[in-house]
Amino acid sequence: MSLALRPNCELCDCDLPADSTEARICSYECTFCARCVENVLLNVCPNCGGGFAPRPIRPRHEWRPGLSLDKRPATLERVRTTYSRAQIAAFAQQLQAMPPAER
Ligand SMILES: [Zn+2]
Ligand SMILES: [Zn+2]
Repeated sequence: MSLALRPNCELCDCDLPADSTEARICSYECTFCARCVENVLLNVCPNCGGGFAPRPIRPRHEWRPGLSLDKRPATLERVRTTYSRAQIAAFAQQLQAMPPAER
């Protein structure tokens, strides 16, 4: 299974194309922009409580047979969080001081 490469930030809904260096994902591939992760989520995924890492960029060029953005395209399905801003802020406050490896 490969990453879905979701097209947007779950919180602010900005576009995060497959080649974006601003996309951040948690281990479940909940996807947010770097700005939201830094300023709002405080490195706490509102869906699972995990931390974030930069989303790897899938090569556009087919360097190896069958493996490229064309052959394994990014999903078009936009995902939006169901949590309110207040719920997200409270959750982030609760967990931010704890390093992801200890959560
Ligand atoms: Zn965002
Ligand atoms: Zn998550």
